[in-house]
Amino acid sequence: MHDFQYKGNELYCEDVSIKEIAKEVGTPFYLYSYNTLKNHFNAFNSAFADIPHIVCFAVKANSNIALLKIFAGEGGGFDIVSGGELYRALGAGADPQKIVYAGVGKTREEIRYALKSNILMFNAESSQELFAIDEVAEDLGVKARVALRVNPDIDARTHPYISTGLKSHKFGISTGDALEGYRLARSLKSIDVVGIHKHIGSQITQTRPFVDALERIISMIDTLKGEGLNIKYLDIGGGLGITYKDESPPHPKELAAEISPILKETGCTIIFEPGRVIVGNAGILVTKVLYTKQSEGKNFVIVDAAMNDLVRPSFYGSYHSILPVNKNSDSNKIVADVVGPICESGDFLAKDRVLPDLKKDSLTAIMSAGAYGFTMSSNYNSRLRVPEVLVKGSEFFIIRRRENYEDLIRCEEIPAFLK
Ligand SMILES: *Cc1c(COP(=O)(O)O)cnc(C)c1O
Repeated sequence: MHDFQYKGNELYCEDVSIKEIAKEVGTPFYLYSYNTLKNHFNAFNSAFADIPHIVCFAVKANSNIALLKIFAGEGGGFDIVSGGELYRALGAGADPQKIVYAGVGKTREEIRYALKSNILMFNAESSQELFAIDEVAEDLGVKARVALRVNPDIDARTHPYISTGLKSHKFGISTGDALEGYRLARSLKSIDVVGIHKHIGSQITQTRPFVDALERIISMIDTLKGEGLNIKYLDIGGGLGITYKDESPPHPKELAAEISPILKETGCTIIFEPGRVIVGNAGILVTKVLYTKQSEGKNFVIVDAAMNDLVRPSFYGSYHSILPVNKNSDSNKIVADVVGPICESGDFLAKDRVLPDLKKDSLTAIMSAGAYGFTMSSNYNSRLRVPEVLVKGSEFFIIRRRENYEDLIRCEEIPAFLK
Protein backbone atom coordinates (compact mmCIF):
# COMPACT_ATOMS: atom_id res chain seq x y z
CA MET A 1 0.00 0.00 0.00
CA HIS A 2 1.09 3.52 -0.72
CA ASP A 3 -0.20 7.07 -0.85
CA PHE A 4 0.09 7.78 -4.58
CA GLN A 5 -3.52 7.61 -5.74
CA TYR A 6 -5.77 9.23 -8.33
CA LYS A 7 -8.37 11.75 -7.22
CA GLY A 8 -10.59 11.93 -10.26
CA ASN A 9 -8.19 11.95 -13.18
CA GLU A 10 -5.29 13.48 -11.30
CA LEU A 11 -2.50 11.68 -9.47
CA TYR A 12 -1.93 12.82 -5.89
CA CYS A 13 0.66 12.13 -3.24
CA GLU A 14 -1.33 12.10 -0.01
CA ASP A 15 -3.36 15.33 -0.29
CA VAL A 16 -1.10 17.16 -2.69
CA SER A 17 -1.59 17.33 -6.45
CA ILE A 18 1.60 16.18 -8.17
CA LYS A 19 0.95 18.65 -10.99
CA GLU A 20 1.07 21.49 -8.45
CA ILE A 21 4.43 20.32 -7.10
CA ALA A 22 5.79 20.10 -10.65
CA LYS A 23 4.69 23.69 -11.25
CA GLU A 24 6.79 24.86 -8.32
CA VAL A 25 9.89 22.67 -8.49
CA GLY A 26 10.03 21.84 -12.20
CA THR A 27 10.79 18.33 -13.51
CA PRO A 28 12.20 15.78 -13.05
CA PHE A 29 12.02 15.22 -9.30
CA TYR A 30 11.81 12.40 -6.77
CA LEU A 31 8.73 12.47 -4.58
CA TYR A 32 8.24 10.62 -1.30
CA SER A 33 5.20 10.18 0.95
CA TYR A 34 5.84 10.69 4.65
CA ASN A 35 2.78 8.65 5.52
CA THR A 36 3.89 5.68 3.40
CA LEU A 37 7.43 5.79 4.75
CA LYS A 38 6.22 5.82 8.33
CA ASN A 39 3.61 3.10 7.73
CA HIS A 40 6.10 0.83 6.01
CA PHE A 41 8.66 1.25 8.76
CA ASN A 42 6.08 0.57 11.44
CA ALA A 43 4.57 -2.40 9.59
CA PHE A 44 7.99 -4.02 9.60
CA ASN A 45 8.87 -3.00 13.14
CA SER A 46 5.57 -4.14 14.65
CA ALA A 47 5.64 -7.49 12.80
CA PHE A 48 8.50 -8.47 15.12
CA ALA A 49 7.19 -6.71 18.23
CA ASP A 50 7.29 -9.87 20.33
CA ILE A 51 11.04 -10.45 20.00
CA PRO A 52 13.87 -8.20 21.20
CA HIS A 53 15.04 -6.51 18.02
CA ILE A 54 16.36 -3.42 16.23
CA VAL A 55 15.25 -2.43 12.74
CA CYS A 56 18.36 -0.96 11.11
CA PHE A 57 17.26 0.71 7.87
CA ALA A 58 19.72 0.00 5.02
CA VAL A 59 20.93 3.50 4.21
CA LYS A 60 22.08 2.61 0.70
CA ALA A 61 18.46 2.15 -0.42
CA ASN A 62 17.72 5.83 0.22
CA SER A 63 20.10 8.02 2.16
CA ASN A 64 18.38 11.41 2.24
CA ILE A 65 18.87 12.70 5.80
CA ALA A 66 15.22 13.77 6.09
CA LEU A 67 14.12 10.17 5.51
CA LEU A 68 16.74 8.87 7.93
CA LYS A 69 15.41 11.33 10.50
CA ILE A 70 11.89 9.88 10.09
CA PHE A 71 13.15 6.35 10.78
CA ALA A 72 15.32 7.45 13.71
CA GLY A 73 12.22 9.13 15.14
CA GLU A 74 10.31 5.85 14.90
CA GLY A 75 13.01 4.10 16.92
CA GLY A 76 14.99 2.78 13.97
CA GLY A 77 18.71 2.24 13.64
CA PHE A 78 20.84 2.05 10.51
CA ASP A 79 22.77 -0.45 8.45
CA ILE A 80 25.67 1.40 6.83
CA VAL A 81 28.28 0.38 4.26
CA SER A 82 30.60 3.40 4.23
CA GLY A 83 31.94 6.33 6.22
CA GLY A 84 29.68 8.58 4.17
CA GLU A 85 26.61 6.67 5.27
CA LEU A 86 27.78 6.88 8.88
CA TYR A 87 28.10 10.65 8.49
CA ARG A 88 24.55 10.82 7.13
CA ALA A 89 23.11 8.61 9.88
CA LEU A 90 24.78 10.64 12.62
CA GLY A 91 23.68 13.83 10.89
CA ALA A 92 20.10 12.59 11.06
CA GLY A 93 20.44 12.11 14.82
CA ALA A 94 20.86 8.33 14.84
CA ASP A 95 21.66 6.53 18.08
CA PRO A 96 25.17 5.10 17.42
CA GLN A 97 24.21 2.08 19.49
CA LYS A 98 21.75 1.19 16.75
CA ILE A 99 24.23 1.39 13.87
CA VAL A 100 25.73 -1.71 12.23
CA TYR A 101 28.43 -1.54 9.61
CA ALA A 102 28.80 -4.07 6.73
CA GLY A 103 30.85 -4.15 3.54
CA VAL A 104 33.86 -6.06 2.22
CA GLY A 105 36.17 -3.06 1.85
CA LYS A 106 36.11 -0.92 4.98
CA THR A 107 39.15 1.35 5.05
CA ARG A 108 41.15 2.07 8.19
CA GLU A 109 39.86 5.66 8.16
CA GLU A 110 36.30 4.40 8.04
CA ILE A 111 36.94 1.87 10.82
CA ARG A 112 38.46 4.64 12.96
CA TYR A 113 35.46 6.93 12.34
CA ALA A 114 33.04 4.15 13.28
CA LEU A 115 34.96 3.26 16.45
CA LYS A 116 35.14 6.90 17.53
CA SER A 117 31.40 7.15 16.92
CA ASN A 118 30.87 4.10 19.16
CA ILE A 119 28.62 2.19 16.75
CA LEU A 120 26.91 -1.01 17.91
CA MET A 121 28.99 -3.39 15.81
CA PHE A 122 30.97 -4.14 12.67
CA ASN A 123 29.79 -6.93 10.42
CA ALA A 124 33.26 -8.12 9.42
CA GLU A 125 33.68 -9.91 6.12
CA SER A 126 37.25 -11.35 6.16
CA SER A 127 40.12 -12.25 8.46
CA GLN A 128 42.25 -9.40 7.09
CA GLU A 129 39.47 -7.01 8.02
CA LEU A 130 39.45 -8.48 11.56
CA PHE A 131 43.16 -7.68 11.88
CA ALA A 132 42.55 -4.15 10.65
CA ILE A 133 39.68 -3.54 13.08
CA ASP A 134 41.77 -4.96 15.93
CA GLU A 135 44.73 -2.70 15.12
CA VAL A 136 42.70 0.48 14.80
CA ALA A 137 40.79 -0.32 18.02
CA GLU A 138 44.01 -0.97 19.90
CA ASP A 139 45.42 2.29 18.64
CA LEU A 140 42.34 4.13 19.94
CA GLY A 141 42.41 2.18 23.21
CA VAL A 142 38.89 0.80 22.70
CA LYS A 143 37.29 -2.57 22.12
CA ALA A 144 35.54 -3.14 18.82
CA ARG A 145 32.25 -5.04 18.90
CA VAL A 146 32.21 -7.42 15.96
CA ALA A 147 29.91 -9.90 14.25
CA LEU A 148 31.14 -12.06 11.41
CA ARG A 149 29.20 -11.99 8.18
CA VAL A 150 28.65 -15.62 7.31
CA ASN A 151 27.82 -16.56 3.76
CA PRO A 152 25.25 -19.36 4.05
CA ASP A 153 25.51 -20.46 0.38
CA ILE A 154 21.78 -20.03 -0.23
CA ASP A 155 20.32 -18.99 -3.56
CA ALA A 156 18.11 -15.95 -2.94
CA ARG A 157 16.43 -16.55 -6.33
CA THR A 158 16.67 -12.93 -7.35
CA HIS A 159 18.61 -10.90 -9.95
CA PRO A 160 22.28 -12.10 -10.03
CA TYR A 161 23.60 -8.56 -9.37
CA ILE A 162 21.64 -8.29 -6.11
CA SER A 163 22.14 -11.85 -4.93
CA THR A 164 24.83 -12.04 -2.26
CA GLY A 165 24.52 -15.31 -0.38
CA LEU A 166 26.25 -17.82 -2.63
CA LYS A 167 29.79 -19.13 -2.15
CA SER A 168 30.76 -17.56 -5.47
CA HIS A 169 29.91 -14.05 -4.19
CA LYS A 170 32.44 -11.70 -2.64
CA PHE A 171 30.44 -11.34 0.59
CA GLY A 172 31.13 -12.74 4.03
CA ILE A 173 33.01 -15.81 5.22
CA SER A 174 31.87 -19.27 4.13
CA THR A 175 30.23 -21.49 6.73
CA GLY A 176 33.21 -23.80 6.36
CA ASP A 177 35.68 -21.05 7.34
CA ALA A 178 33.47 -19.26 9.84
CA LEU A 179 34.53 -21.22 12.91
CA GLU A 180 38.16 -20.46 12.18
CA GLY A 181 37.21 -16.80 11.68
CA TYR A 182 35.50 -16.72 15.07
CA ARG A 183 38.50 -18.33 16.76
CA LEU A 184 40.73 -15.71 15.19
CA ALA A 185 38.39 -12.88 16.24
CA ARG A 186 38.33 -14.17 19.81
CA SER A 187 42.12 -14.29 19.93
CA LEU A 188 42.43 -10.61 19.01
CA LYS A 189 42.85 -8.39 22.07
CA SER A 190 40.82 -5.39 20.95
CA ILE A 191 37.91 -7.30 19.49
CA ASP A 192 34.79 -8.24 21.37
CA VAL A 193 32.84 -10.92 19.49
CA VAL A 194 29.16 -10.15 19.95
CA GLY A 195 27.22 -11.46 16.98
CA ILE A 196 26.65 -13.17 13.69
CA HIS A 197 25.42 -11.63 10.45
CA LYS A 198 24.02 -12.77 7.12
CA HIS A 199 22.43 -11.01 4.16
CA ILE A 200 21.62 -13.15 1.13
CA GLY A 201 20.40 -10.59 -1.40
CA SER A 202 17.70 -8.16 -2.38
CA GLN A 203 14.17 -8.21 -3.88
CA ILE A 204 13.53 -11.69 -2.44
CA THR A 205 9.89 -12.58 -2.99
CA GLN A 206 9.59 -15.90 -1.16
CA THR A 207 10.06 -16.86 2.49
CA ARG A 208 11.93 -20.08 1.70
CA PRO A 209 15.41 -18.59 1.12
CA PHE A 210 15.15 -16.65 4.40
CA VAL A 211 14.21 -19.78 6.33
CA ASP A 212 16.91 -21.91 4.69
CA ALA A 213 19.63 -19.32 5.33
CA LEU A 214 18.47 -18.88 8.90
CA GLU A 215 18.65 -22.58 9.61
CA ARG A 216 22.28 -22.67 8.49
CA ILE A 217 23.14 -19.68 10.64
CA ILE A 218 21.39 -21.09 13.67
CA SER A 219 23.29 -24.34 13.57
CA MET A 220 26.40 -22.15 13.43
CA ILE A 221 25.27 -20.30 16.58
CA ASP A 222 24.99 -23.61 18.41
CA THR A 223 28.54 -24.49 17.42
CA LEU A 224 29.78 -21.09 18.57
CA LYS A 225 28.01 -21.40 21.91
CA GLY A 226 29.69 -24.76 22.29
CA GLU A 227 33.00 -22.91 21.89
CA GLY A 228 32.03 -20.61 24.74
CA LEU A 229 31.36 -17.60 22.49
CA ASN A 230 28.62 -15.26 23.60
CA ILE A 231 26.52 -14.47 20.53
CA LYS A 232 24.21 -11.66 21.67
CA TYR A 233 23.14 -10.32 18.28
CA LEU A 234 21.77 -12.22 15.34
CA ASP A 235 21.68 -9.89 12.33
CA ILE A 236 19.61 -11.46 9.56
CA GLY A 237 20.17 -8.71 6.98
CA GLY A 238 17.57 -7.29 4.62
CA GLY A 239 16.29 -8.31 1.23
CA LEU A 240 12.52 -8.55 1.48
CA GLY A 241 11.08 -7.75 -1.96
CA ILE A 242 8.30 -5.45 -3.12
CA THR A 243 5.73 -5.36 -5.91
CA TYR A 244 7.06 -3.60 -9.00
CA LYS A 245 4.77 -5.35 -11.47
CA ASP A 246 3.10 -8.63 -10.56
CA GLU A 247 5.35 -10.00 -7.79
CA SER A 248 3.58 -11.03 -4.60
CA PRO A 249 6.25 -10.96 -1.90
CA PRO A 250 5.31 -11.92 1.66
CA HIS A 251 4.11 -9.13 3.93
CA PRO A 252 6.50 -8.56 6.87
CA LYS A 253 3.82 -10.20 9.06
CA GLU A 254 3.91 -13.36 6.93
CA LEU A 255 7.69 -13.45 7.08
CA ALA A 256 7.47 -12.93 10.84
CA ALA A 257 4.99 -15.79 11.20
CA GLU A 258 7.53 -18.11 9.55
CA ILE A 259 10.74 -16.99 11.17
CA SER A 260 9.86 -15.47 14.56
CA PRO A 261 9.60 -18.84 16.32
CA ILE A 262 13.09 -19.76 15.05
CA LEU A 263 14.48 -16.35 15.99
CA LYS A 264 12.99 -16.43 19.47
CA GLU A 265 14.68 -19.71 20.29
CA THR A 266 18.12 -18.21 19.80
CA GLY A 267 17.70 -15.87 22.77
CA CYS A 268 19.55 -13.24 20.72
CA THR A 269 18.59 -9.64 20.04
CA ILE A 270 17.63 -9.76 16.37
CA ILE A 271 18.82 -7.10 13.96
CA PHE A 272 16.94 -6.52 10.69
CA GLU A 273 18.32 -4.51 7.79
CA PRO A 274 15.38 -3.77 5.50
CA GLY A 275 15.88 -1.19 2.75
CA ARG A 276 13.76 -1.65 -0.36
CA VAL A 277 10.65 -2.88 1.46
CA ILE A 278 10.49 0.34 3.50
CA VAL A 279 11.20 2.96 0.82
CA GLY A 280 10.67 1.31 -2.59
CA ASN A 281 6.97 1.99 -3.00
CA ALA A 282 7.10 5.17 -0.91
CA GLY A 283 8.76 7.12 -3.72
CA ILE A 284 8.25 7.95 -7.38
CA LEU A 285 10.16 9.82 -10.06
CA VAL A 286 8.11 12.51 -11.79
CA THR A 287 9.16 13.34 -15.31
CA LYS A 288 7.81 15.33 -18.25
CA VAL A 289 7.49 14.28 -21.88
CA LEU A 290 9.85 16.41 -23.97
CA TYR A 291 9.05 14.95 -27.38
CA THR A 292 7.50 11.94 -29.01
CA LYS A 293 8.71 10.42 -32.23
CA GLN A 294 8.21 7.47 -34.49
CA SER A 295 10.83 5.70 -36.46
CA GLU A 296 10.06 2.76 -38.73
CA GLY A 297 6.80 2.17 -36.89
CA LYS A 298 8.45 2.21 -33.46
CA ASN A 299 7.26 4.79 -30.92
CA PHE A 300 9.58 6.68 -28.63
CA VAL A 301 8.49 8.83 -25.74
CA ILE A 302 11.40 11.07 -24.80
CA VAL A 303 11.19 12.29 -21.22
CA ASP A 304 13.36 14.66 -19.18
CA ALA A 305 14.50 11.96 -16.71
CA ALA A 306 17.20 9.52 -17.78
CA MET A 307 19.36 6.58 -16.73
CA ASN A 308 21.53 8.93 -14.66
CA ASP A 309 18.44 9.72 -12.53
CA LEU A 310 17.10 6.15 -12.30
CA VAL A 311 19.55 3.49 -13.47
CA ARG A 312 17.61 0.37 -12.47
CA PRO A 313 15.97 -0.29 -15.87
CA SER A 314 19.30 0.07 -17.70
CA PHE A 315 21.43 -1.68 -15.10
CA TYR A 316 19.22 -4.56 -13.95
CA GLY A 317 16.56 -4.58 -16.68
CA SER A 318 14.08 -3.65 -13.95
CA TYR A 319 10.43 -2.97 -14.54
CA HIS A 320 8.91 0.26 -13.23
CA SER A 321 5.25 0.94 -13.78
CA ILE A 322 4.62 4.27 -15.56
CA LEU A 323 1.44 6.24 -14.89
CA PRO A 324 0.14 9.47 -16.38
CA VAL A 325 -0.15 12.25 -13.80
CA ASN A 326 -3.32 13.34 -15.62
CA LYS A 327 -5.47 10.54 -16.97
CA ASN A 328 -7.16 11.29 -20.23
CA SER A 329 -9.87 8.66 -20.42
CA ASP A 330 -10.44 8.85 -24.17
CA SER A 331 -6.76 8.55 -25.10
CA ASN A 332 -5.66 5.67 -27.31
CA LYS A 333 -3.05 3.21 -26.13
CA ILE A 334 0.31 3.00 -27.82
CA VAL A 335 3.31 0.70 -27.44
CA ALA A 336 6.47 2.72 -26.91
CA ASP A 337 9.96 2.86 -25.47
CA VAL A 338 10.27 5.52 -22.78
CA VAL A 339 13.76 6.98 -23.12
CA GLY A 340 15.84 9.81 -21.68
CA PRO A 341 18.11 12.44 -23.25
CA ILE A 342 21.39 10.59 -22.54
CA CYS A 343 23.64 9.62 -25.43
CA GLU A 344 23.48 5.85 -24.89
CA SER A 345 21.08 3.32 -26.37
CA GLY A 346 20.94 1.78 -22.90
CA ASP A 347 19.21 4.92 -21.66
CA PHE A 348 15.62 3.80 -21.20
CA LEU A 349 13.03 3.72 -18.44
CA ALA A 350 10.74 1.24 -20.20
CA LYS A 351 10.79 -0.87 -23.37
CA ASP A 352 7.82 -1.87 -25.54
CA ARG A 353 5.44 -0.59 -22.90
CA VAL A 354 1.71 -0.21 -23.42
CA LEU A 355 1.01 3.39 -22.49
CA PRO A 356 -1.66 6.01 -22.85
CA ASP A 357 -0.90 8.18 -25.86
CA LEU A 358 1.30 10.66 -24.00
CA LYS A 359 1.71 14.05 -25.58
CA LYS A 360 4.50 16.59 -25.41
CA ASP A 361 4.50 18.20 -21.92
CA SER A 362 2.51 15.35 -20.28
CA LEU A 363 3.69 14.57 -16.77
CA THR A 364 4.35 10.94 -15.97
CA ALA A 365 5.10 9.10 -12.75
CA ILE A 366 7.73 6.36 -12.70
CA MET A 367 6.43 4.29 -9.82
CA SER A 368 8.29 2.30 -7.12
CA ALA A 369 11.38 4.50 -7.42
CA GLY A 370 12.01 5.18 -3.73
CA ALA A 371 14.70 2.51 -3.31
CA TYR A 372 18.00 2.52 -5.21
CA GLY A 373 16.69 5.49 -7.20
CA PHE A 374 18.25 8.76 -6.13
CA THR A 375 21.08 6.96 -4.31
CA MET A 376 22.30 5.40 -7.56
CA SER A 377 21.93 8.60 -9.58
CA SER A 378 24.89 10.38 -11.14
CA ASN A 379 25.88 13.45 -13.11
CA TYR A 380 26.57 11.52 -16.32
CA ASN A 381 26.29 13.75 -19.39
CA SER A 382 26.76 16.61 -16.90
CA ARG A 383 23.11 16.41 -16.02
CA LEU A 384 22.11 18.08 -12.78
CA ARG A 385 20.90 15.74 -10.08
CA VAL A 386 17.20 16.23 -9.47
CA PRO A 387 15.49 17.49 -6.32
CA GLU A 388 13.85 15.27 -3.73
CA VAL A 389 10.50 16.32 -2.33
CA LEU A 390 8.65 14.99 0.72
CA VAL A 391 4.87 15.26 1.07
CA LYS A 392 3.19 15.22 4.46
CA GLY A 393 -0.58 15.57 4.38
CA SER A 394 -1.41 18.69 2.39
CA GLU A 395 2.11 20.14 2.48
CA PHE A 396 5.31 19.43 0.60
CA PHE A 397 8.94 20.09 1.46
CA ILE A 398 12.05 20.18 -0.71
CA ILE A 399 14.46 17.86 1.09
CA ARG A 400 17.20 18.18 -1.53
CA ARG A 401 17.35 21.08 -3.92
CA ARG A 402 17.99 20.71 -7.61
CA GLU A 403 21.70 20.97 -8.43
CA ASN A 404 22.92 23.91 -10.48
CA TYR A 405 25.82 24.33 -12.88
CA GLU A 406 28.16 25.57 -10.14
CA ASP A 407 27.51 22.35 -8.21
CA LEU A 408 28.70 20.41 -11.24
CA ILE A 409 32.25 21.76 -11.20
CA ARG A 410 32.51 22.56 -7.48
CA CYS A 411 35.31 20.06 -6.82
CA GLU A 412 37.25 20.59 -10.05
CA GLU A 413 40.32 22.73 -10.60
CA ILE A 414 42.36 23.89 -13.58
CA PRO A 415 46.08 23.44 -12.72
CA ALA A 416 48.29 26.55 -12.83
CA PHE A 417 50.15 25.47 -15.99
CA LEU A 418 46.90 25.65 -17.97
CA LYS A 419 45.95 29.08 -16.73
C1 LIG B 1 21.78 -3.86 0.49
C2 LIG B 1 21.82 -4.43 1.86
C3 LIG B 1 20.68 -4.46 2.67
C4 LIG B 1 19.33 -3.98 2.20
O1 LIG B 1 18.77 -4.77 1.20
P1 LIG B 1 17.26 -4.54 0.76
O2 LIG B 1 17.05 -5.54 -0.30
O3 LIG B 1 17.15 -3.14 0.25
O4 LIG B 1 16.39 -4.77 1.94
C5 LIG B 1 20.81 -4.95 3.96
N1 LIG B 1 22.00 -5.39 4.43
C6 LIG B 1 23.12 -5.39 3.67
C7 LIG B 1 24.37 -5.89 4.26
C8 LIG B 1 23.06 -4.92 2.38
O5 LIG B 1 24.18 -4.93 1.62
